[in-house]
Amino acid sequence: MRRPFVAGNWKMHKTLAEARELMAGLRAGSDADWKVTVAVCPPYQLLFPMGREIDKTPIKLGAQNVHCQPQGAFTGEVSPAMLIDCKCDYVIIGHSERRQQFGETEELLARKIRAAMEAGLDVIYCVGELLEHREAGDTEKVVAKQLDGALASDVDASRLTIAYEPVWAIGTGKTASPAQAQEVHAFIRGRLAEIFDQATAEAIIIQYGGSVKPNNAKELLSCPDVDGALVGGACLVADDFLAIIRAAHETGS
Ligand code: PEP
Repeated sequence: MRRPFVAGNWKMHKTLAEARELMAGLRAGSDADWKVTVAVCPPYQLLFPMGREIDKTPIKLGAQNVHCQPQGAFTGEVSPAMLIDCKCDYVIIGHSERRQQFGETEELLARKIRAAMEAGLDVIYCVGELLEHREAGDTEKVVAKQLDGALASDVDASRLTIAYEPVWAIGTGKTASPAQAQEVHAFIRGRLAEIFDQATAEAIIIQYGGSVKPNNAKELLSCPDVDGALVGGACLVADDFLAIIRAAHETGS
């Protein structure tokens, strides 16, 4: 059985004082017996202090982006080894905001995935279609291209999580219905079986992301191929994030 995995993408939110307050709330509500893997992904400036805040808690740390080179003249960038230094276990790669606002291509994302894994990071690789793709019936075509373009059979699947995030559902309050999510998750698992093999695909966690909230988490997480959630807005409020974690815990129990 796949262990549910809930990650919170803080995006460009929280000063140090605000982050400490959020973490205090998460620590107070955390439970060593959670049957769910939990990670927070703060912005870069908070990684080092948050690495200390999560010490002796079941909460893991992740980053929202990484460079594909180990070091060099890349102003403003952060390497995989630097994330390891900050006690990161995870890195989000290919978020739709990086694809859309920063022009990240699958060719670049493939390099980031390999560099991150080689340094010892687990990767949350995001895929998902725009509204226009869905309306044109192109969801599977787009998601297949995103998977095929960045993954290959020699990628370390044991370090891979996929986050299916329909772009039209991110930060909009419009969630995919459980049936819509399950349909695409099942498609993704099939594609992963083609890239790797069936047993490997069965073991890969596929998170859903896109306006996951306490009031819809349980329904989404109950779908057979929805193994967790990548949470944006709701992870910025401790009680909301904890409620989503508890929903995942219940599906994992
Ligand atoms: C995200 O950006 O990864 C996300 C899922 O955001 P939200 O939960 O706010 O839709």
